[in-house]
Amino acid sequence: MVEGYCMKCKAKKVMQDAKPSKMANGRDCVNGKCPACGTKMFKIGKM
Ligand SMILES: [Zn+2]
Repeated sequence: MVEGYCMKCKAKKVMQDAKPSKMANGRDCVNGKCPACGTKMFKIGKM
């Protein structure tokens, strides 16, 4: 499970559909969705 910050809920949430990804500069990040509102979430770092 990956925790991220939802900009819309203004709260930390456990990401839904969390997937590892990479940023343009090659750093690891995680993409997912907010379980409450469905907004895309993003976190820097590995899963
Ligand atoms: Zn949300």
